[in-house]
Order: sequence, then structure tokens, then C-alpha cells
Amino acid sequence: MNSAPAATDAAGFDAAMLLAIDQSQQVKGNTYPNPPVGAVVLDRDGQVVGVGGTRPTGEAHAEVVALRRAGELAAGGTVVVTLAPCNHHGRTPPCVEAVPAASGLGSSTA
Ligand SMILES: [Zn+2]
Repeated sequence: MNSAPAATDAAGFDAAMLLAIDQSQQVKGNTYPNPPVGAVVLDRDGQVVGVGGTRPTGEAHAEVVALRRAGELAAGGTVVVTLAPCNHHGRTPPCVEAVPAASGLGSSTA
């Protein structure tokens, strides 16, 4: 059981957030009616292991895209997201359930 936070310092967090913002800008205009969101997954050592932007409506949100790309490397890590993870069942399940489901993850927004 791992309860220690990921070893992400402020500089690493800032770099991850800039990467997440870049992801959100790449999908801007293609996510309506969802907001263009970017997400970055850091492993427990603070290394980037997954990035993603929200897919077109009905498909995965940014957090889920980034978590899928990170796979098992997400365990014990951190998800950096440009917008707080959604908490509703729309066409996809709520992201607030997907994040902790990836084995003890925490999430962080700007
Ligand atoms: Zn979502």
C-alpha cells in the first residue's frame, strides 16, 4: 500500500502544467460541447508518463486519455489537469472515478 505522494517538486509541476495547457490548446475547437482540457500523468518519481487532450464529444476526456497512455506507470503518480475532473455521468463516466481507479493516484489542477 503506497500512501506517499509523488515526488513532484514545484518546477516539475509547472513543467507538467505547461505541457497540459499545450495539450488543451491542441484540441481546442474539437471538443464541443466539452471544454478543451489537457492532462499530464507523472509517475511516482515525477517523470511524464502520459499526456492527452479531451477527445471529440462522446469519447474519452483528457484525464482518461493520459491515464491510458501511462498505463501501469501511473500507479502512485500524479495527474495534472487544466480543469477539475468532471463528476457527472454524461456520454462517458466521471473522471473523478477514473483518476483514483488508476491505483492510488492523486490529481491536481491549477
Ligand atoms: Zn471528464
